[in-house]
Amino acid sequence: MPHDAQPTASHFIDGQYVEDESGDPIDCIYPATGAQIARLHAATPAIIEQSLAAAERAGAQWSAMTGTERGRILRRAADIMRDRNHDLSVLETLDTGKPYQETSVADATSGADALEYFGGLAGSLTGEHIRLGEDWVYTVREPLGVCVGIGAWNYPTQIACWKAAPALACGNTMVFKPSETTPLCALKVAEILIEAGAPPGVFNVVQGMGAVGAALVTDDRVAKVSLTGSVPTGRRVYAAAAEGMKHVTMELGGKSPMVIFEDADLEKAVSGAILGNFYSSGQVCSNGTRVFVQRGLRDAFVARLCERLKGVVMGDPLDPAVNFGPMVSERQMQIVQGFIEKGQAEGATLAHGGGRAEREGFFLEPTVFTDVTDEMTIARDEIFGPVLSVLDFDTEDEVMARANATEFGLAAGVFTRDLTRAHRVAQGFQAGTCYINTYNLAPVEAPFGGVKASGVGRENSKEAINHYSQVRSVYVAMGDVEAPF
Ligand code: NDP
Repeated sequence: MPHDAQPTASHFIDGQYVEDESGDPIDCIYPATGAQIARLHAATPAIIEQSLAAAERAGAQWSAMTGTERGRILRRAADIMRDRNHDLSVLETLDTGKPYQETSVADATSGADALEYFGGLAGSLTGEHIRLGEDWVYTVREPLGVCVGIGAWNYPTQIACWKAAPALACGNTMVFKPSETTPLCALKVAEILIEAGAPPGVFNVVQGMGAVGAALVTDDRVAKVSLTGSVPTGRRVYAAAAEGMKHVTMELGGKSPMVIFEDADLEKAVSGAILGNFYSSGQVCSNGTRVFVQRGLRDAFVARLCERLKGVVMGDPLDPAVNFGPMVSERQMQIVQGFIEKGQAEGATLAHGGGRAEREGFFLEPTVFTDVTDEMTIARDEIFGPVLSVLDFDTEDEVMARANATEFGLAAGVFTRDLTRAHRVAQGFQAGTCYINTYNLAPVEAPFGGVKASGVGRENSKEAINHYSQVRSVYVAMGDVEAPF
């Protein structure tokens, strides 16, 4: 099912599409049917070299431009993305299988938000003036150089833009490697940046599996690596980057808690649990997959949740009426099925779903487990699929200890009408991104990222600037130089 807006080659380097068919084939599968929609090729060493050389070359011109000039290009790219939202959303749906109902409001639009926000900030990046009596120090905020971005498969457009926008705003250049599972969308971002006036080489895209990412991360020309991926990959990439003393941003996985107290607004809590578990068929890093419900509300919560799940509409994700898509790949579907089997084998009660939907493609039913205990596999491991676990609790102290008893720390949410408790609980979570009476919103204005094993650094907001720039400090002496002899 080739799409008009589909990219025309595997890589985008130095302002143009580039192909090298000697690279390993990457078959792009539409997850809703299992049909092949494109064949791309992994980057060969020659392609990797070309991309890094282009990024290094482009850095001189790009970093010499004023922030306002760079920002204007990013904002123009945001406008183009919004104008083409329909086509980009269709491509995102073909790449990932996520329903158009979602992609048309959450992917190119979120990418455009990042380009617009960081485009707006670019002209206002400054250093400081520090007075020391007659002497003084001034600081200069400088780009890092060539940055490498490596993406996961769940939000290919958004991830490319969340990394490119702050990197480019600060005057860096980038080589981006999408996940081999969803290779198409980042190429369109590269195309659009050129159309908006970015000099060739400022943002390059190369395809490949882990080996291509590893080759990029270990290259001496690279100053920074930003990865969105799983914790095991994060550990490997962080270690490789450390060898070269490179800067890193690690946006990794989670097993986030959602804590629902008896006094919560039931309907809001159920909506939060749906958003935090079944949006993008559960393939969201910050999902609140451990849903702790205080015992007095538990039965009503489960009943209402299962009732609301009758509103799931599966089908062709390109149909705007469809609100629930397939897993991104057959492999991911099998991994999630394995977790569902483990949940049953370890004694959790299947309250809803649990099976593969009877249709072509990699569809799984939205699944709810109750009677889940902390030590069960489904309560400990990141599943990355539509599987919600309900855990019962009695007291605030108890639930906080249990919520934090995990190596992860990406997100956490609390539902309660008690204002004081809401803030106390948000403060007590060991998580980088917390929610009170909502879940999973990620506006570009707010920092996003994890603590503990879930990551290092923050994306979005002014915080991201600190992770894509460094500060030079210049001491200016106004008087004599006092030397001991
Ligand atoms: P992976 O960790 O499997 O892969 C992430 C990326 O890293 C892919 O592009 C992958 O390439 C690449 N890669 C793999 N090995 C290496 C290596 N040794 N060196 C360099 N690059 C490498 O993650 P998934 O794609 O499976 O995505 C799911 C994970 O991402 C989940 O854990 C999820 O929580 C996390 N995630 C985190 C987010 C956040 O913001 N915190 C947001 C979205 C997802 P390839 O796959 O092509 O081999």
